[in-house]
Amino acid sequence: MRCQCPSAPLRALSSTLSGAEGCAAAERIMNLLNIQFPQVDAARLAQAHRDGAEASAPLPTEEQALLTAEITALLREKNAVLIAHYYTPEAVQELAEQTGGCVADSLEMARFGRDHAAQTLAVAGVRFMGETAKILSPDKQVLMPSLQAECSLDLNCPAELFREARQQHPERAAVVYANTSAAVKAEADWVVTSSNALKIVAHLKQEGRKIFWASDRFLGSYIQRETGADMLLWPGSCIVHEQFKADGLRRLKERHPEAEVLVHPESPPDVISLADYVGSTSNLLNAAKRSTAPAFIVATEPGIFYKMRQAMPDKLFLSAPQAGEGAACESCARCPWMAMNGLRNLRAALKDGAANEIHVAESVRVRAAASIKRMMDFSFAATAATCTAA
Ligand code: SF4
Repeated sequence: MRCQCPSAPLRALSSTLSGAEGCAAAERIMNLLNIQFPQVDAARLAQAHRDGAEASAPLPTEEQALLTAEITALLREKNAVLIAHYYTPEAVQELAEQTGGCVADSLEMARFGRDHAAQTLAVAGVRFMGETAKILSPDKQVLMPSLQAECSLDLNCPAELFREARQQHPERAAVVYANTSAAVKAEADWVVTSSNALKIVAHLKQEGRKIFWASDRFLGSYIQRETGADMLLWPGSCIVHEQFKADGLRRLKERHPEAEVLVHPESPPDVISLADYVGSTSNLLNAAKRSTAPAFIVATEPGIFYKMRQAMPDKLFLSAPQAGEGAACESCARCPWMAMNGLRNLRAALKDGAANEIHVAESVRVRAAASIKRMMDFSFAATAATCTAA
């Protein structure tokens, strides 16, 4: 039966809450924030799936070789470097590595771009990644293969709504995930990534601060459980990670008792509870490298398998089940927006830079840069302290 409670629009953000439990949890968040939250528009999502499938479809060998050569020449000619996220299609990751760019998570992408001598950054990822690169490198040109490549966490958290809700809780430290727009980052006190969120929230808790958290509620609730911090959670979610299913994961574990389970904390709590290791994409990659296990079940976007298999060719990597299993799987866990990064539109972006350039208003950029810098300074100090203690 269709849910008729006042929080129905919010419940539609996620299929992971069900029945009375889902209504109660959603209502609690709605009542606390007293705001109606947006859903990712179904038509827009369907279009993203179509565009992503088209952009990332395998190319004939000859065309791929031609595009690779052309893009390599364009990068050189434009004094540009290719920076790709772990979730982009394999051909793009491969090209970034071959041309002296990098394949990394969002923060490392921005840091690499800032420190690189190139004057143009070709960022293959989703829009907030291009924006973060521009925030840290205002004097460089930032291009993206598609300006339509978005992220549900960003779409779930429009800046006007965030500002309105945040004003209702001025006593709380506003901590926002990197997967938000530049405009939301500009309203925040801190930006965090899945690599450093735990440490930063634990630090704020130690200082006696309560947290206003946006935008991924599963990552937020994981941090809340781990740190015991008082956190008010924005109810956004990642359309990829929220689909991992605990029942299917349990069954896959039974079939592969030798495998360790690696889970990204944007996944639902019952999936996280089955993990041998929980961490950001980079941390999952490093955990697999450190482990002696011969196989891994991985609950994150399968684009990471390119780097995992490259580093550990003898090990087995299996995708954690989503809605259904094997042939019955309703989803391949691919992010439609990450899939929009293909070789054809990358070449077009480099050829006609202006059409695919990222711009961030200077007033927004300066305030967003302050929240990002706070995170970077904290992470740098924490790393330095660890090195000194070692
Ligand atoms: S995988 Fe999820 S968090 Fe990452 S870009 Fe796609 S929608 Fe956003």
